[in-house]
Amino acid sequence: MAGRHRAPKEPIRLAPAVAVVALSAAAAGTVSTPPAAADSIVPVVPEETSSPATPVIQHYTVVPGDCLSEIAQRSGETTDQLYAENRDVVGVDPNLIFPGQVLAVGVSSSVPVVPSTPAHAAPFQAPLDAMTVTQAFKGAAHQGIDLHAEIGTPGYAVADGTVLFSRPASGFGLWTVIRSQIDGQTVDFVYGHMDHLLVSEGEHVAVGEHVIDTGTNGVVTGPHLHFEVWIGGRLGGSPVDPAAWLRAHGVNV
Ligand SMILES: [Zn+2]
Repeated sequence: MAGRHRAPKEPIRLAPAVAVVALSAAAAGTVSTPPAAADSIVPVVPEETSSPATPVIQHYTVVPGDCLSEIAQRSGETTDQLYAENRDVVGVDPNLIFPGQVLAVGVSSSVPVVPSTPAHAAPFQAPLDAMTVTQAFKGAAHQGIDLHAEIGTPGYAVADGTVLFSRPASGFGLWTVIRSQIDGQTVDFVYGHMDHLLVSEGEHVAVGEHVIDTGTNGVVTGPHLHFEVWIGGRLGGSPVDPAAWLRAHGVNV
């Protein structure tokens, strides 16, 4: 019967608030004014007048995974043209561009630049070229999958991300953890048992980037890659079946 005592409290507490609203409305003399009146006070935003028929110079901000030739292709320019126009920004090496750099594009072309694929629709990459699962995901009992790999097999970043850990770790021997933001979620990709480390903590990596070479370090019975996917982060998040996650993101496993 405790609930019966509690239930009436809410209406009683609400009543004074309603009265105050009515009172203040009356005091302001706006009782008869339909609420819709407020909606009529809408700033008029002038429509953008279009549109130049001459070359459209746009500014494009480099995102992870971009390369100059690809941006040039999207903007209908040659790589040489794009580089020439942006030499000040890019510097001496056209093969080295960095996320955040702002390039002038379309100087040599009137083709509008198609923006890079949005992050949530970015293509993802399998961690290994050959995905042979030798040990399945078993939740707490095995928080990832084991993938057959001879020593020294290159492994890749599944998505754009930042290296969270790349150091010795208990059981893993060495581990590399890459943190990505995917569909508004923090997703950590964990690689274990490498014999040496290829990337440094804090380093940015692009999808498909060669980030590990497989090995036999740590608790293993033979060379393989132990690979985990954690939603919400490796520390504090939840492991999911990497094979299922990859399939759900268009990667064949
Ligand atoms: Zn394993």
